[in-house]
Amino acid sequence: MNAVSIPIMKPFLGPEEQEAAAAAIASGWIAQGPRVREFEEAFAAHLGAAHSVAVSNCTTALHLALHVLGIGPGDEVVVPSLSFIATANAPRYVGATPVFADVDLATQNLDVESVGAVLTDRTRAVIVVDQGGMPADVDPLRAMCDRRGIHLIEDAACAIGSTYRGRPVAGAAHLAAFSFHPRKILTTGEGGMVVTDDEQLAARLRRLREHGMSVSAAERHATGGAPVLEQYLETGFNYRMTDIQAAVGLVQLGRLEGVVARRREIAARYQEGLGETEGTALPSDPAWGTTNYQSYAVLLTDDSASRDDVMVQLAAEGISTRRGIMASHLEPAFAGHSHVPLPVTERLTRHSLILPVFHEMTDAEQDRVIETFRRVLADQVTLTVSAR
Ligand SMILES: *Cc1c(COP(=O)(O)O)cnc(C)c1O
Repeated sequence: MNAVSIPIMKPFLGPEEQEAAAAAIASGWIAQGPRVREFEEAFAAHLGAAHSVAVSNCTTALHLALHVLGIGPGDEVVVPSLSFIATANAPRYVGATPVFADVDLATQNLDVESVGAVLTDRTRAVIVVDQGGMPADVDPLRAMCDRRGIHLIEDAACAIGSTYRGRPVAGAAHLAAFSFHPRKILTTGEGGMVVTDDEQLAARLRRLREHGMSVSAAERHATGGAPVLEQYLETGFNYRMTDIQAAVGLVQLGRLEGVVARRREIAARYQEGLGETEGTALPSDPAWGTTNYQSYAVLLTDDSASRDDVMVQLAAEGISTRRGIMASHLEPAFAGHSHVPLPVTERLTRHSLILPVFHEMTDAEQDRVIETFRRVLADQVTLTVSAR
């Protein structure tokens, strides 16, 4: 008989979020309006960024970031294959070609040398990902991009609450994109944000997310009925966030510090409980920053242990895990897409798994994960050894 299962992740939402969403509905303004504006301002203030533009999700945020930089057919955009597939899809949305580079084994983030090796005359941008919340070492990449006159976009989908060189992530990129999907630590159901210090880019992003309109619906409403004739200045999109989502986001942003502190506490307990486990490499803060532990990815370093078998056995004991970060180049959507060898990416995607971390996880639940994981792994290694 199984004990109650332990999920991999659980969104942390309470009565405050319910009240905020209800208040937005009661206000009569539920599409993009004053709460979206307020959320954008609070988000920018949190990051220390000049401009924040709320959108429907991080995938549309990445699409708009490439679009607003004028990247299109014939252009190349360097991305890690080791990422959620939206990172690699984004260049295709604008007709550009994603070019895969390899990652660093310890941080799972783009390796600067690997990026340097795939730059060509057609490269127009690099998308660096803060994988699972782990801050990438962005300054050397930015310096490389600046020397070549290309743009650096940060896919910070998972990284709200992580820091780079003592400041919130995303400060060193031209544009950064965030996600508020329930799998991330700050959620609005669905939602995203594009962040930039460039005022002109921000103004155009605001227009592009709303059909290319010269005046937003909220601005028209604010004139109190006086007719405002809007114009459609270019081909835009409908990538808006709703005020109901923004109301939830404002509450979640207010909780962020406590949520990150709790995740770091859970990670410290994993370090304590699993640090001595042979055949594993655990995540930890890099020299240049702190992670929010959005994902706690463990690499199995002993080749005799099968990651998939470990996952199956943990599941049989009621413990949910996920395979490590996916590798986009191994998916059918990228079959036949040429790329340089990606040995570190392939090792990480095949041999790592993500352990449960959620705000309300109890010590007893975590102890069960630690004890079961250690036992299953030890069995795996012995089994394989005796089968030789
Ligand atoms: C989750 C995620 C995305 C996609 O975010 P959505 O808001 O679901 O579109 C993009 N990139 C990375 C690295 C992610 O983890």
